Amino acid sequence: MAETLPASGSLVSSEIKTIFKDRMDELLVDLGRKITLHLKSTVEDCPNCGFNDATRRSNRKYNSSNPNTLNGPKHRAFSDGQICPICNDQGVLKTPRSTMYTATISKKVSQAELLQSGIGRMDKIYCKTGTVIDSYDDVINCETAFIDGLIFERAAEPIKTGLQTLIRVKTIWVRAE
Ligand SMILES: [Zn+2]
Repeated sequence: MAETLPASGSLVSSEIKTIFKDRMDELLVDLGRKITLHLKSTVEDCPNCGFNDATRRSNRKYNSSNPNTLNGPKHRAFSDGQICPICNDQGVLKTPRSTMYTATISKKVSQAELLQSGIGRMDKIYCKTGTVIDSYDDVINCETAFIDGLIFERAAEPIKTGLQTLIRVKTIWVRAE
């Protein structure tokens, strides 16, 4: 579809657009609350033991070349056959990651909004958030979100919204069971 529009409009100046975005950000701070997105944990080999590829766990052998400080949080000697005290037999160390954003939070999500987002079930607890545009990747990658004391999962793909400039990520969440 072709469109015939002027190259630039003259009703709203670029200053007004900047002011609009700044005011929207102030509104977010004034009205928003902090939410926490829990991202996938980072996984690294346990430096204190070896990995058994067959069992997918620790090989229960102390790695004496562990470069970390002895008796520090990542280095403790143990006897062969015992459970590694650093990874608790996992063979890997998982580090949980999370990040916080200020979000407008609404507990009212209409049936129409749910259907529009491809959500067919109405018998769950939903909420929606608006966060800064830079939160998009974290919203996509998070496993759960902590919102007003409850744990939610993403219920649909987040949507970038805004006028000429995309400034918010709108996300619908469903209460995790
Ligand atoms: Zn270990």
